Amino acid sequence: MLGAVVVGIGTAGCVRIRDMLVPLRGSHAEKLAVKGFISRRSLEPQQGVSQISLEEALSRDDVHVAFICTENMSHEDNVRMFLQAQKHVCVEYPMTMSYKAAVELWDLAEEKGVILHEEHIELRSEEYKQLKREVEGKTLQEGTLHFTGGALKPGFGFPSFSGIARLTWLVELFGELSVSAATLEEDPANSYSKMTAKLLTSDNRSLTWIEERQPGLPRAKNINFQFDSGTLTQIPPAPRGTVGLFMQDLIHFSAKLAGQVSPEELQKERVRVLHCLELAGKIQELCQG
Ligand code: NAD
Repeated sequence: MLGAVVVGIGTAGCVRIRDMLVPLRGSHAEKLAVKGFISRRSLEPQQGVSQISLEEALSRDDVHVAFICTENMSHEDNVRMFLQAQKHVCVEYPMTMSYKAAVELWDLAEEKGVILHEEHIELRSEEYKQLKREVEGKTLQEGTLHFTGGALKPGFGFPSFSGIARLTWLVELFGELSVSAATLEEDPANSYSKMTAKLLTSDNRSLTWIEERQPGLPRAKNINFQFDSGTLTQIPPAPRGTVGLFMQDLIHFSAKLAGQVSPEELQKERVRVLHCLELAGKIQELCQG
């Protein structure tokens, strides 16, 4: 068994505790045992699991794994501390708020001989899998992915990082991208923001990624993908999967811990995660430059 702690008791942190307490039977996730959680607040036990101090989590020999479920801005420091203490780390996306920091963390994980995993539940949803099947084999002419949602809580960072799940969709669907232009419109009085990034595929097809947020805006992804064979304007409906998204991610992470994920797959994921963070950084630079 591998002992685990959860850092940050918000929506994601609570799901992590629940999934470790009731893992999918017969999956690698059964090999994880939750030993405690860490929070900046002083909290009662959560789902029967007690709070422990950060120092205790870092020093205990029976803690092998940390789940970093805090706001995005504090991921990097938390990941670094646990890697330095030679613990495996699963961090909710985005791993860091810069490409450079993510490279450093990955190098540190390698040096310490531990697994560093970035959660990507958006790639595990049935709607994404259905979309991927629709797109496969088609040649893109141009496309748009327009995300709308409510205002973000503080600590979630620049939209190209907080919205990395949408960028990851585009990269997984259309391959490596480059950034040709990016702008950010803001109206602080109305908590409104709209980031527009112009991206290019490796064969110079144009993709536009928009992240638009304001209190009350419905959470939605609108697509318009024009292919040589027709246009896709809706994400194909798909029935809900039987295994929860965070549970699927937990199983994948535990399979990595058990050495059941091939070095090729690990490398492919690392390349994709770093590519997306690099694009997010370029978008931020262009918006702020
Ligand atoms: P949240 O605001 O509900 O929770 C964040 C929690 O972390 C808060 O309780 C906060 O007090 C705590 N926290 C922050 N810094 C801390 C620190 N240094 N030490 C201890 N605790 C700290 O947010 P969330 O929705 O749970 O998101 C957390 C992370 O999970 C984010 O990175 C987000 O991108 C990612 N994520 C969330 C979802 C989801 O469905 N909620 C999906 C995918 C990824």
